[in-house]
Amino acid sequence: MERRYIQCDRDKCTGCLICEFACSASKEGSFDLERSRIHVIQPTPSMIAVAVCQFCRNSPCIKACPRDALSRDEATHTLKLEKARCAGCGWCIEVCPFGAITLDESTKSVIMCDLCLDHPQPRCIEVCPQKALRLYVSKRKQSREPTGG
Ligand code: SF4
Ligand code: SF4
Repeated sequence: MERRYIQCDRDKCTGCLICEFACSASKEGSFDLERSRIHVIQPTPSMIAVAVCQFCRNSPCIKACPRDALSRDEATHTLKLEKARCAGCGWCIEVCPFGAITLDESTKSVIMCDLCLDHPQPRCIEVCPQKALRLYVSKRKQSREPTGG
């Protein structure tokens, strides 16, 4: 099964947050970092990374959802959220090993990366001034589950 997800080159990323601003502007029409699908994290002063959905082969978020609001879109290899089903309980957020799911406080449903399938390529990749982001494609067989990157 193919997986595609956004990877960050930690040696190039400067933590400028332009990817987050571009994501929220593209998806939500406003510069609202809390509604970005990608988040820059800095666990230690010398380490920087991005938290973004890795579209795990055996997605724990899908299993954890008590309302069957999440599913895998086999055609696009992304996750689908049925907004009307989402209760905003946050169980999917709790189990995501990548911290990649965000609760949108304004709608009380969750948001996550969809790889900007409506664009030629993900907006964050397009705008990163350091060219730190790329779309990684994995075609490995289903050998380790659950897993991400
Ligand atoms: S835009 Fe690029 S350099 Fe800036 S925080 Fe995002 S990944 Fe890092
Ligand atoms: S927040 Fe929504 S998608 Fe996540 S587990 Fe709860 S009902 Fe399911």
